[in-house]
Amino acid sequence: MRAAPPPPLAAHPTPLSRLLGIALDALRTGAEERGGPLPAGGPEAVTARVRAALGEVLPGTGTGPDEALRTLVHLVAAGAADPAHPLCAAHLHTPPLALAAAADLAAAALNPSMDSWDQAPAASALEAEVTAALAAEVHPTADRPDALVTTGGTESNQLALLLARERHGPRLTTVTGANAHHSFRRAAWLLGLPEPVAVPTPRGLLDPEATARVLAGLDGPVLLAATAGTTDEGLIDPLPALADACAAHGADLHVDAAYGGPLLFSDAHRHLLDGLDRARTVTLDLHKLGWQPVAAGLLTVREATDLAALAHTADYLNAGDDTEAGLPDLLGRSLRTTRRPDVLKAAVTLRALGRTGLGALVDLCLERARDLADLVEKSPELELRDRPVLTTVLFRPAGADDAAVAGVRRRLLADGRAVLGRARADGRLWLKATLLNPHTTLDDLARLVTLVETARPTAPAARP
Ligand SMILES: *Cc1c(COP(=O)(O)O)cnc(C)c1O
Repeated sequence: MRAAPPPPLAAHPTPLSRLLGIALDALRTGAEERGGPLPAGGPEAVTARVRAALGEVLPGTGTGPDEALRTLVHLVAAGAADPAHPLCAAHLHTPPLALAAAADLAAAALNPSMDSWDQAPAASALEAEVTAALAAEVHPTADRPDALVTTGGTESNQLALLLARERHGPRLTTVTGANAHHSFRRAAWLLGLPEPVAVPTPRGLLDPEATARVLAGLDGPVLLAATAGTTDEGLIDPLPALADACAAHGADLHVDAAYGGPLLFSDAHRHLLDGLDRARTVTLDLHKLGWQPVAAGLLTVREATDLAALAHTADYLNAGDDTEAGLPDLLGRSLRTTRRPDVLKAAVTLRALGRTGLGALVDLCLERARDLADLVEKSPELELRDRPVLTTVLFRPAGADDAAVAGVRRRLLADGRAVLGRARADGRLWLKATLLNPHTTLDDLARLVTLVETARPTAPAARP
């Protein structure tokens, strides 16, 4: 028996285009079956449906590309928490732009790998241009800023701590606010650094005077990690005063702007990031307020020379004589080896929308958050935590206890009607809406408010 020919490659445009049609169709039928922001029935029902549709993971004889694509893309779409649905608003989980997803498909089809020039000639040149331009956006007064492409804020924060450790040695103390992202604790653990010192943030923000007192009381080198856009409340630490405190105490400043960084594109809101330029390193995520498919992270540095610590050689990728002969050495641009050209979708987006287009999307999402806060303030049944700064709105049923707040969230999830997050602030539990969808309307927000007003909480778990 003659063996079947191998399946077509992504570089074969006709089969790719036909299969893409099947995948797009399955996305549509899956979304129709779901009919809302997430599948109803909770984890048990979803797992049962996945197992039933999947059957054998590795069948003896394959089902062929059409069936496999249709079945599994439909399955995952039907069971998705769909960030493009206006009532899916829990996390910094962005609805990707169509143009960015199309660019990401092209990246997958070409499959450049960014660890050596001979696997990614144009893609690596594009990455160098885009990272230089974005680094200059973040650090306009720096002489030689630079940026690395990362998988997101977690990797960027880890790299920031690693670069600081390489500058100062393993006795480096990291100081964060209690409002900081959890990734700093893990990064310190991973890098063998002392556990970060957390400054209390009773109002959700680092207080410059309290922070300066902590810095004054520490011996040895210190990195202060401030946040521009806290994950729980979308607040921006007072960056200029914190930069002053760092300067006064000889501490380095890192700013985690994973969430708030894209305010740089907005004429109306850029001023909220005043002081960002003074940070030695900055974390920026374009898979949040940048509408990119995961992954699209950046770490910018004020001083390109800080990145020398990541230099690394492997003869098959960046042999000394190849580098001397002019082949760019890319291995020191990441801790990863094989690496996707995530820069392509970002470059397409920056070019397609321009600063004005991106700024307008940022402004629109900030405006929607204010609209939601208005609706909550008007509702006698609901309590608003505070006016939003970015796109995060915390609210809760008035007079409810924490268990009831948690129960409302789980009820909406179980019914598949809305996806809201949770956050602790002021010692209490709040529902969290994170608005990243520029297509969300006032009617959508009114529907969300009504759903919360009328939700019956799930019963708290029975105590044994
Ligand atoms: C989302 C977020 C992170 C983590 O980013 P990932 O892309 O999820 O790794 C870090 N810091 C802040 C402030 C964030 O909002």
